[in-house]
Formats: sequence, C-alpha cells, structure tokens
Amino acid sequence: MSEQVRRPQVVPDPSLPDRVTIYEVGPRDGLQNEKAVVPTAVKVDLVERLLDAGLPYVEATSLVHPRWVPQLADAEEVVAALVRRLGDRAYDLPVLVPNERGLERAYDLGLRHIAVFASATDSFARRNLNRSLDEQYAMFEPVVARARAAGMRVRAYVSMCFGDPWEGDVPLDQVVAAGKRLMDLGAEQLSLGDTIGVGTPGHVVALLDALNEAGLPDDVLALHAHDTYGQALGNVAAALRHGVTTFDTSAGGLGGCPYAESATGNLATEDLLWMLEGLGIRTGVSLPRLVETSAWLEPHLDHAPVSRAYQALRGTPAQPAARR
Ligand code: MG
Repeated sequence: MSEQVRRPQVVPDPSLPDRVTIYEVGPRDGLQNEKAVVPTAVKVDLVERLLDAGLPYVEATSLVHPRWVPQLADAEEVVAALVRRLGDRAYDLPVLVPNERGLERAYDLGLRHIAVFASATDSFARRNLNRSLDEQYAMFEPVVARARAAGMRVRAYVSMCFGDPWEGDVPLDQVVAAGKRLMDLGAEQLSLGDTIGVGTPGHVVALLDALNEAGLPDDVLALHAHDTYGQALGNVAAALRHGVTTFDTSAGGLGGCPYAESATGNLATEDLLWMLEGLGIRTGVSLPRLVETSAWLEPHLDHAPVSRAYQALRGTPAQPAARR
C-alpha cells in the first residue's frame, strides 16, 4: 500500500513554522482507552512500525498499576521486547510514570525518558489520582526530582486544560498555575491536554498567551488535542500559528474519549500529517506508512480506526484515474 495513497497538494503558508515534531501517544494513551486488549507482541510491533514511519517520539507504555489500566499490564514485557528488538534506542522511548513506584520500575528497566500526568482541576485529580489538586504535586515532586537527578528527561502532561466533565469551564489561571508548578519541578516540556476535546481556537490562543506571560514560551509547550467535538485540527492550526511546534497524536485516532462515550478522542496522526504535508511543513513522518500501520492494527481492535484521513486513504489509488 505504501506508495499508493493519495497525497495532498502542497501549498505552503510562509507565516507558519516550517517544521513540526509529532509526539505519538497511540501505544500508551491510545491503547489504554481501547476496549480490546492488544497482545504484547502486537504492541511491540506497533511501536517499531511507528518508529520506522519516522515518528521521533513514541510513548511506549505506562508503568501504572495493572489494576488501574489492565490494557497496559504487560509494560515490563513490552519494554524488554523493545530492548531486544531495537537495542539502545529503546531506552529513549518515553514511558508514563504515575508515581514513585512507577519511577522505580522505569529506573530498573534502564529507561531515560519519562512522562508524568497531572490535572488542572481538583475533580479530575481526585478521580484519576486520588489526590487533591495540591496533593498531586506532593506526589510528583519526588518523581520529577529523582528522575532529573538520574539524568532522565521528563515531560509533564496537564489534563483538563480546556474544560472538565465535573467542573465545566476551567479558568486559564488555574491551568497556568498547574503548568508553572510542573515546569518549576524540573519538567522540560508541558503537554496541554484537551482531555474532553471541548477547546476552541480562541481559547487555545488565550491559554498560550497566558502561559507565555507566565514565562513558559511556546517552545516548551505541546498541544494534546482531542477531536471529540471535531475541533482538534482547528486548535492545532491556531497553536501552530501562535508558534507551538510539538503536537500529540495517536495512530488511526486510537483511544476514544472515556468521559464523553465517544469513539473520537486523540487527534489521529494521519489527520495531522495530511494537514502538515499540505502546508509543506516537515515532520519526517511518512503518511503512507502510518496508513499501512493503522490497516495492519485494525484487526486487533474492536472497531475501525476513526481517523478521517485513514478512512479516506485506505485502499485508494494514489491519484484519480486519468481522464480520457
Ligand atoms: Mg489523549
């Protein structure tokens, strides 16, 4: 299939950045929110295929307690298999670490890049982390400090940045406070999660302005857009125009949205690639390889990948038949 999918006509917008980093979250954020439990060997193949497609960052799994995320209960096996397959490169794959116990597991595995997952709202911190908004920092502080002391890279997620299912609107200053706190602890990148996909472009710009004003420039920020309400690419375009150049996506749109009972959650890697390729923005990632990977993964899921670009491209010829 590789060389046979249609590609967008390239019409650059000179006012936009010419390069974007795609941070792939499918094997972790995607699979943890899928009903189907994917076999370990398939997870390992998925990570390798995504790396082979050119993705510079592939979050491989989560070292959370299996009771909370049974879909990723095989984290150690996945990492060990990746080390056998990829050698030293496997240790640089980012892995989610929820607490100090998770950090110890990451350390034992020899991993060099972790991600922590915080909340901008008290309600979600209590539901997801069993901590109040303030108490979550007490949990992350030693994790980030110890990881940095061990020379690990640390990415921090802030979830519910644009709305919360229990609290509704989330004030900008609350998100800024959470982001600042995590960066002050020693994280190198802040990923702004629109966990329920309710954000809109003006809101994205306002949050980025507020973060910049608080001393967090666009080059330490990433946008983790969800497409639950069809806003993901619009929000990415707004952030791109603002100056953000790192975006989180999942292959095929893996993941769904557990808080909206929607099949559509994470922005699909293919959908972002179609837009960026059309804009002439370099990513180093192959759209045909992504389509091929989602097609390969599809039989292991209980539904077809929701990515619009994938659905449009799968099995189509490169170009429409020539007119006679
Ligand atoms: Mg997500």
